[in-house]
Amino acid sequence: MPYDTQPTASHFVNGAYLEDTTGEVIEVIYPATGAVIAKVHAATPAVIEAAMTSAKAAQAAWAAMTGTERGRVLRKAADMMRDRNHDLSVLETYDTGKPYQETSVVDATSGADALEYFGGLAASLTGEHIQLGEDWVYTRREALGLCVGIGAWNYPTQIACWKGAPALACGNAMIFKPSETTPLCALKVAEILHEAGLPAGLYNVIQGMGTVGASMVTDPRVDKVSLTGSVPTGRKVYAAAAESVKHVTMELGGKSPMIVFDDADLENAVSGAILGNFYSSGQVCSNGTRVFVHKNIKEAFLDRLAARLQDAVIGDPMDPDTSFGPMVSERQMDIVLGYIAKGQEEGARLVTGGARLDRDGFYLQPTVFADVTDDMTIAREEIFGPVMAVLDFEDEADVMARANDTEFGLAAGVFTRDLSRAHRVVAGFEAGTCFINSYNDAPVEAPFGGSKMSGVGRENSKAAIQHYTQLKTVFVRMGDLEAPF
Ligand code: NDP
Repeated sequence: MPYDTQPTASHFVNGAYLEDTTGEVIEVIYPATGAVIAKVHAATPAVIEAAMTSAKAAQAAWAAMTGTERGRVLRKAADMMRDRNHDLSVLETYDTGKPYQETSVVDATSGADALEYFGGLAASLTGEHIQLGEDWVYTRREALGLCVGIGAWNYPTQIACWKGAPALACGNAMIFKPSETTPLCALKVAEILHEAGLPAGLYNVIQGMGTVGASMVTDPRVDKVSLTGSVPTGRKVYAAAAESVKHVTMELGGKSPMIVFDDADLENAVSGAILGNFYSSGQVCSNGTRVFVHKNIKEAFLDRLAARLQDAVIGDPMDPDTSFGPMVSERQMDIVLGYIAKGQEEGARLVTGGARLDRDGFYLQPTVFADVTDDMTIAREEIFGPVMAVLDFEDEADVMARANDTEFGLAAGVFTRDLSRAHRVVAGFEAGTCFINSYNDAPVEAPFGGSKMSGVGRENSKAAIQHYTQLKTVFVRMGDLEAPF
């Protein structure tokens, strides 16, 4: 890789880089060129064992520290991530192909936000006191123990931090397995955490395919599994975790609706549709890929959208002017091309895009289909690429029923100037994360997650604390204890 601060080995275990070249080779491919830029090895059973053993050994002492002490480490790591933002952003761009224009403001920075936020919260974790006459109960909010994090490939730094920061703040250890497609960034997160003073073993990163994740999910030493991935993987991991009744957080896929009423600010609605379909080349779980546009403004919306898409700068992701990069992999590009072909076969009208670009790397054009109907494959299945489906509507009740007619429930958005309608519509959405006149904001202060098949649990915000701790109830009797005999 033409980059000198890349990770120096495949795994980060017990406070140091670790290599085991007997593990299967995983090639890291730069999506902008198709070139192999690095190789890592999948974790062998020996590497997994080292990660488990070191995490178990370190966790109790970490949990016994004060929240202030734990938080100090996380906040220091946050500062270090911000100081190294440029290098981390370049690495994220190599790992994912996302433009530097995005990675330099979203990935390490949102990871740092999570470390800072949960670092700040660590000292305020408390149980409660419940008075029962002269007796009383107190609750202790305790760490779960050993948490496993399994990541998707679209936001490798952010996912590593969104899982690691709350887990560590609450006194847990974490073993994180990145997607095999983007193995590099999480290693730098581990490196920084340990440089910031995290004791060895508390945040281990090990590589591998799904089988490595699967072997950890069934390990009796693991107390919690947090997965970011697709619904089919989520089903498998959830079921495997249920065998030993482990705690879970599932951040899964979506097919989220965005409803644009005819009183909406057209320019803002077009901006929302662009952000919710083409940012990160459409590889965002919460994307609003079913854009329901009121018939009265449909043509105006499509005209403006097509015009704005002309301004997309597609090219070298390292060029700060580039605003639209390649797909993460050839495989993902082919999946998306398959959906584009399906859209055409099933009679949707291709407004713009629809093809691979004639250049190296895995580039697709931003693609918009209009006249999409609810039964079409492109309106039902998660595509995870730059493909927007525009559907027509006239009536609010009708569009709400159609918006909710999906197994997914990750996100939903509405564009309107009518305040009452905006709140009525979001109240009716069957989705975990909703937007009014905006799309895809994900500040660390706010809970993020899905309902229905899109997931269980919440990341970010104070809500995440409940998913990385458990309550112990302690009854204290002050007087004599009576017994029947
Ligand atoms: P996958 O579901 O294919 O993989 C997710 C992770 O799970 C990978 O690290 C994968 O390993 C691992 N894995 C696969 N099978 C198993 C198994 N049986 N046991 C344990 N781990 C396993 O998702 P993608 O990586 O393709 O990511 C895209 C998906 O993620 C989309 O559906 C998207 O919506 C969702 N996503 C959800 C987000 C959310 O917050 N709700 C955010 C981002 C993405 P490997 O790939 O290395 O084999």
